[in-house]
Amino acid sequence: MTLRGTHLGRMRDRSFDTLVIGGGINGAVTAASLAGRGASVALIDRGDFASFTSETSSNLVWGGFKYLEGYELYLVWKLCRSRNRLFKAYPDNIKEIGFYAALDRKGPYPPWFAALGALAYWIIGLFGTRHPRLLSQNKIETEEPAIDTDTVRGGIEYYDGILVDNDARFVFSFVRSAIEAGAAVANYVELVSAERDGDHWKARLRDVDTGEEFTTAARTIVNATGPFVDALNSEWGVKTEHRIVYSKGIHLIVPRLTTRHHHKVLAFFDDTERLFYVIPMGRRSVIGTTDTRVNTPFTEVTDDDIEFLLEQINARMDLETPLTKADIISSRSGVRPLVVSTEGSDQTDVDWTKLSRKHVVEVDRDQHVVSIFGGKLTDCLNVGEEVADEIERLGIPLEKDLHNWYGEPAPATRKEFYRQARLMRLDALREKPETEPLTDRLWRRYGRRAFDMLEDIRRNPAMAEDIMGSADYLRAELYSAAESEMITKLEDFVRRRSKIELVVRDEAIESSPGLREVAQILFGDDAERRLAEYFGGKIPEASRSRGESSLHGRTVG
Ligand SMILES: Cc1cc2nc3c(=O)[nH]c(=O)nc-3n(C[C@H](O)[C@H](O)[C@H](O)COP(=O)(O)OP(=O)(O)OC[C@H]3O[C@@H](n4cnc5c(N)ncnc54)[C@H](O)[C@@H]3O)c2cc1C
Repeated sequence: MTLRGTHLGRMRDRSFDTLVIGGGINGAVTAASLAGRGASVALIDRGDFASFTSETSSNLVWGGFKYLEGYELYLVWKLCRSRNRLFKAYPDNIKEIGFYAALDRKGPYPPWFAALGALAYWIIGLFGTRHPRLLSQNKIETEEPAIDTDTVRGGIEYYDGILVDNDARFVFSFVRSAIEAGAAVANYVELVSAERDGDHWKARLRDVDTGEEFTTAARTIVNATGPFVDALNSEWGVKTEHRIVYSKGIHLIVPRLTTRHHHKVLAFFDDTERLFYVIPMGRRSVIGTTDTRVNTPFTEVTDDDIEFLLEQINARMDLETPLTKADIISSRSGVRPLVVSTEGSDQTDVDWTKLSRKHVVEVDRDQHVVSIFGGKLTDCLNVGEEVADEIERLGIPLEKDLHNWYGEPAPATRKEFYRQARLMRLDALREKPETEPLTDRLWRRYGRRAFDMLEDIRRNPAMAEDIMGSADYLRAELYSAAESEMITKLEDFVRRRSKIELVVRDEAIESSPGLREVAQILFGDDAERRLAEYFGGKIPEASRSRGESSLHGRTVG
């Protein structure tokens, strides 16, 4: 029985304190916080976890320096506080990073004014990062020659946080916490309908993978469907004081653009005076983002989007050759669910980019529904706590919040892992230029589960081999993922549990002989079907070859 099969079994015809609908950051954090405090919880998503908005972010954990432009001091303070808590709780997954902003003569602010803003930001952020600094044009020229300084007046450097892996993997860490705290959790399960019956909800769910329908019951529901929150509430007749509008943002992933400071985010004002960034992602750079008003949550990267971003970047960087469409390795597009009031004006006439990025948690006490509007990855701990408070007020008893439903394992556990890895000379096994030491990578990605990988590698050195060329994934990681990461489709692994699809070109994935072995480890007898599904029916030649595996002593699970 797969992990998903077991969890589906636990959902069928059962009754829970809370059913959480939507497995993006808000649903995942809600399930982790409620289950971690003793509630019985079911969490479903009709796609994979984090397969909608939460896989399209900039991967930044930040207080929102740019929100100071709109004088949103309280929001910035709250986000900075949340950022600082995340820094403490995830020291290996979230790293402090410099934002290196070059300010153009045509830009809206002179460097001294931006530096004052950065100082205010640092103070509002309770000194949770290194202090900001003012940069002269010369300093920028020598520190990062890739920036075109011809029209630059100077700049600033301030600090925030970045997710070292990716947003979707961060979301999954909360799903995993929920599982470990006893929640019943399943991806590819859609809510078909739900009705209030006496003191509980009866929900009809559909396994999207097999088409099977079943029922489950819950005393309360959390609507964490992100951009779909209003549609679901109106189906149930839930009335709220807020609703969602959509702002589209895109990112382009390209070969590394920076020459010296690949561990910094470069920030520029675009032609519309909006900040945009060049963000490091492994050995790649990510350019983004845009902010366009749209009427649907379903968006894609258009030629106009690409043209705009390439034009902006080429005008501000001194690249050996201008960046073109052919340089784009992958792209992503998503909508920010922004909160507006349902009362009064419909707020469609306001400046879209100036709408607040705050979140709101609302409760319908008659229906026992908690709705989450908006919210950022950065705000996730606040959301988890606020939803738990509301669920408690709806009569579900929760244990005291010991703040142990999130975060990396204790420093002593980390120390022991590093000791064991050192004794077996783990880093010497796979020394590759430009890649981080294996010990750091395994600990960051898997925490306590990484101990089992050390054991697997001790038993069989082939477990320490890279499975897909440049993708930085060991065989041991795949076996662990197959058991514990609820990977239902190949895309779940390639796009969300890992960032392979973002940083490796499609052609390289298609021609990777390791992909077949990946599918075999993840899906066993179902590998062929999952490969065909991933490639839209036609499996490329390279993935067809049935390479002999050098593995012993592990069963495919
Ligand atoms: C371009 C861009 C850049 C961003 N950058 C950052 C950043 O750098 N830092 C930051 O902190 N935030 C950032 N954000 C904001 C952040 O990504 C989002 O606010 C957040 O991911 C929203 O999460 P969510 O859980 O509310 O929604 P989602 O992630 O969309 O999750 C909702 C889930 O509900 C599921 N669902 C819907 N209907 C049903 C149903 N009937 N049954 C079952 N499941 C259902 C969907 O499949 C979906 O997975 C960015 C957003 C965008 C668009």
